Amino acid sequence: MATFTWGAFALFVTSTAIVLLFGHSLGSHRKLIHGSFQCPKWLERTLVYGGTMVGLAGPIGLVRQHDLRDFAQRLPRCHDYLRNGRGWFVDAWWQLNCDLVLDAEPAVAIEPRIANDRFYRFLERTWMAQQLPWALAFHAWGGWAFVFWGVCARVTAGVFGHWLIGYFAHNHGPMRRVVTGAAVQGRNVRFTSLITMGECWHNNHHAYPGSARLGLAAGEWDPGWWCLVALERAGLVWDLRLPADLPPRAELVELPQRPRRAGLVDAWRLCFRAWSRDAASRPALLVRWPAKLLSRHALATLFGPQVRLRRDPDLHRLMLCAGKLRLAGMSAIAIGAAQRRPWLALPISLAMPLLMLHCRRMPLATA
Ligand SMILES: [Zn+2]
Ligand SMILES: [Zn+2]
Repeated sequence: MATFTWGAFALFVTSTAIVLLFGHSLGSHRKLIHGSFQCPKWLERTLVYGGTMVGLAGPIGLVRQHDLRDFAQRLPRCHDYLRNGRGWFVDAWWQLNCDLVLDAEPAVAIEPRIANDRFYRFLERTWMAQQLPWALAFHAWGGWAFVFWGVCARVTAGVFGHWLIGYFAHNHGPMRRVVTGAAVQGRNVRFTSLITMGECWHNNHHAYPGSARLGLAAGEWDPGWWCLVALERAGLVWDLRLPADLPPRAELVELPQRPRRAGLVDAWRLCFRAWSRDAASRPALLVRWPAKLLSRHALATLFGPQVRLRRDPDLHRLMLCAGKLRLAGMSAIAIGAAQRRPWLALPISLAMPLLMLHCRRMPLATA
């Protein structure tokens, strides 16, 4: 039984991406559980069917699990099972092999719209068997290798990945906001935005559970949101809710963010800042310079009106401030120049890895 072919592996990658993006992130999570956007019923059911194909649970079971976790995590104390609160191995064993049985389970009311939907009830009864038609089709298409990679490996990766990101998203990673009084805070798990379809911005999600957009700050990539915007343009979804559309939460506290050194991806993004449609309405970048070599007039000519200038005799090198991001030296000058002449963004971004070498030993001065 040949189990590896490149074709079968390609099937694994594509089918996993499709069920995680359209099924789990858009269908089960953003739509069914949080109702963060509107769409026709046929589309909702198609997306939710995709969510069932991840292999975690049926749609109603998934809503119940999620609502119980949400409810428990907002209380002042929360059971370790519901907060991924034990060590790595215990949590893996618990989440992947065990069930939590409560003596007095809190009543989780599932909307009648979902609980009484005949299609969702059918999926709820048959969610495991839903893999079978695909297994048969894959077998006919490419033999056992396609069944192994297109079904077994895909379900394993989906279920294991779901646990793994849940573990990190409740234990490790930076926070922008805190929900006061809640036992558990979400964490933003960087560098996993593409494989989690944007679900890794879990601190944002704890703060604004009803938001259709999960990556909120610049640089927080959110493939699920990109997809929703495309579907909105096609007229298939509407009423995409954002944090500003949600009722204010008194218990939500913004944490002060410390300045941080820009990485290469940040620098590339800043290079192309002038290309975005709302460039003119964005707050100007700030350049602080020591005024030894360069005059204000020279800098203003080089950078243009999208860059504010402030003289700072304490600095040794020119520094560019974009929100909390800091860049110094050649890379800062190049990014400033690309604000005035957007065509420079491409050559500058190609040279950026070299220019960034200058940035290493820059002190992170205050705001
Ligand atoms: Zn959470
Ligand atoms: Zn959620």
